[in-house]
Amino acid sequence: MNPITFYRSEPFPIEFHKARIVQKLHLVPVERRLAAICQAGFNTFKLSTRDVFLDMLTDSGTNAMSDNQLAAMMQADDAYAGSQSFEKLLKAVQEVLGKTFFLPTHQGRAAEHIICKTLIKPGQIVPMNYHFTTALAHITEVGGHIEELLCDHALILQSAHPFKGNIDTDKLEHSIQHHSPENIAFIRMEASTNLIGGQPFSLENLTQVRRIANQHDLKIVLDASLLGENAFLIQQREAAWQHKSLGDIIQAVTSLADIVYFSARKLSSSRGGGIATNDKDTYLKMEPLIPLYEGFLTYGGISVKEIEAMAVGLYETLDPDNIRQNPDFIAFMVNGCSHKGIPMVTPPGVLGAHVDAMTFCEHIPQSQYPAGALASAFYLCSGVRGMERGSVSSVRDENGDDIPADVELLRLALPRRVFTLSQIKYAMDRLEWLFDNRHLIGGLRFTYEPPVLRFFMGSLEPVSDWPQKLAARFRKDFGNSL
Ligand SMILES: *Cc1c(COP(=O)(O)O)cnc(C)c1O
Repeated sequence: MNPITFYRSEPFPIEFHKARIVQKLHLVPVERRLAAICQAGFNTFKLSTRDVFLDMLTDSGTNAMSDNQLAAMMQADDAYAGSQSFEKLLKAVQEVLGKTFFLPTHQGRAAEHIICKTLIKPGQIVPMNYHFTTALAHITEVGGHIEELLCDHALILQSAHPFKGNIDTDKLEHSIQHHSPENIAFIRMEASTNLIGGQPFSLENLTQVRRIANQHDLKIVLDASLLGENAFLIQQREAAWQHKSLGDIIQAVTSLADIVYFSARKLSSSRGGGIATNDKDTYLKMEPLIPLYEGFLTYGGISVKEIEAMAVGLYETLDPDNIRQNPDFIAFMVNGCSHKGIPMVTPPGVLGAHVDAMTFCEHIPQSQYPAGALASAFYLCSGVRGMERGSVSSVRDENGDDIPADVELLRLALPRRVFTLSQIKYAMDRLEWLFDNRHLIGGLRFTYEPPVLRFFMGSLEPVSDWPQKLAARFRKDFGNSL
């Protein structure tokens, strides 16, 4: 698996890039971290990066750019309409994703907005492998409903199943029969299902989904935001594809979907997004919405410089040395932590390392947001900012009661090509300390809750003075150290 064979060392992943521009980081003392997380309402989204050492909140818009991307940005053809930079991007989409038509958007959720507005009628169902927060919000906004048809292994957090992102095709057939095809807007497949630990689907599974879609004349919409890594894991884990190139695998995946959309903040660059298809009718339905909501068709609401970076980034997706950096570093982190007994989501996925907060904090009831509490506690003891992916990121039902999330995860995202192995080891060391002191972590409750996507701006407070006690224990164990 590792492209390098070691002499005596245990295998570890190696960077196939060098740092040429660096940005200084600060690690503030634990007392400041305690004050900062209190001010942030125990919501890591509301921390200032002034107080953050390693920012593992997300891989969205925080990946390192390549020298070739920066060089291309300098050559941007800044024009409102007809920019040659867009022609380069269109060509990259055609060559890498194998789709003829392309509509640029300012980010992934904007693509979701346009697809949902065009393809969903009120009351229609969207079956999918799993939801993503913004996709769910846009489907609901236009009166649609989601149906999640994950395979049985998906929510078994410690598992050896290589493709936990697979849809259950029996459930899919049953759902189509049950609702009847005209009440289904489309089938949504998400590459590397973000919210359950970046778990991929297999090409075999997607091929079956295509067969079912054809039988009922349904469209498949592919969320390709994490497609590069999903393709890499297909190469690693699906025997039939291990000798194929990433480019072949990517095209095999996209050729099975009618519409491919993505967030270029993850796939290819640090800004932008878009919708690609070979279906001219659907393209023509969506096209007028781009100037209305995004910007003219050749820039889609982002700067032309970023259009250039996306084009180069799409080609870089074909390079295994580039794509493997993220899954390889994540595997190092997940395997290392699992080895210490820390409950991690396995097998290692993409996007980041995911900690099973319900097991880590088994003494905290789900109603007190164990994943949110763990994210705050981990920041407190390390300066590392992760993201809650559990019930805080969920929604309430019509009675105003919390809908408990299927899984409570602390996500430690690894933006692509940003962190060094020593920084990852530091995060692992502090996570081990926190695991040994986990009984000190307590629950949280909301003090302010926005009506939609509450996890972004909501505020919480601890149910006791546990953060102070945890900080005191840190001081006791680490002395004057940061
Ligand atoms: C990030 C993401 C989105 C939304 O993209 P933005 O650019 O953040 O709006 C949609 N789907 C998946 C799978 C994502 O990871």
